[in-house]
Amino acid sequence: MKTGQVHLLFRSHSRHWESNRFVYPVLSRRSQGLSIGINLNPDTRCNFDCVYCSVDRSAYKDSDPGVDPELVRMELRELLRDVRSGRFWTSHPFDHTPSLLRRLNDVAFSGNGEPTICRRLPVVCQRILDVFHEFSIQDMKIILITNATLLHKPHVIETLECLDRHHGEVWAKLDAGTELYYRMIDRTRVPFERVLNNILYTGRQRPIVIQSMFIRWNGQPPPPSEIEAYLQRLKWLNDNGCRIRLVQAYTVARPTVCDTVLPVSDQTLDSIVDRIRQIGLDAQSYPAPADQPMDRSV
Ligand code: SF4
Repeated sequence: MKTGQVHLLFRSHSRHWESNRFVYPVLSRRSQGLSIGINLNPDTRCNFDCVYCSVDRSAYKDSDPGVDPELVRMELRELLRDVRSGRFWTSHPFDHTPSLLRRLNDVAFSGNGEPTICRRLPVVCQRILDVFHEFSIQDMKIILITNATLLHKPHVIETLECLDRHHGEVWAKLDAGTELYYRMIDRTRVPFERVLNNILYTGRQRPIVIQSMFIRWNGQPPPPSEIEAYLQRLKWLNDNGCRIRLVQAYTVARPTVCDTVLPVSDQTLDSIVDRIRQIGLDAQSYPAPADQPMDRSV
């Protein structure tokens, strides 16, 4: 298969699969395998409005019927059955997947909004485990990808405790070092301090992954002072007992709703990763794909 076709597969993060409402497959560049997404926000609800988000919220419907854990269970069951039987790999566009990548890697709460907004999250988590049990799956990761704003809520704590018992991982977003930049990039009313404290307390209970997005916004990469402040936040988390297993520094890889967002250069991302490693944390950079049709000069 041509490299360009693999890149297109990696870049295609459609949250639609057949007639499913919640469950969708994604070929993941990070895991080099298939990730099954659980989109608990088909209504696109989020308490952030990140400038780099790829979700168009203009069609937001307040009348959305919400999350049905039983339907999540059924959709996941069907998809796993198709993957097991091989039927999945004959369906477009996954029929183009190279054989080395035809492996199931994880199930991830990730979709068109913040998954922890869903109060039925613990029930959904249990339904996923029911399906794993049915398919005799014992060691597949369940990843909660979150903006960390609600990690202190009882229904989220209950979910985290469930994930701790079943190969769960938390990937928490930290996009800034200062309140000002955080508000500019993530466009939210949630105080930055709450995000930091939630990451700290969650990371004291179990190892976590930090995901940080670096972009050029209105033509400008994050200023050096902002990078310094960001590194100080990571250091503060680490010094205070937050177990950061990995920092994923990435940039935009897909079209965004705001048209003034561009990826930072590979050099910028690599230099940030070097600085993170200098404070004793493991870090990985995820640059924009080489064929990204964007101005990559800065
Ligand atoms: S937190 Fe995620 S879903 Fe919400 S606006 Fe930001 S990128 Fe989009």
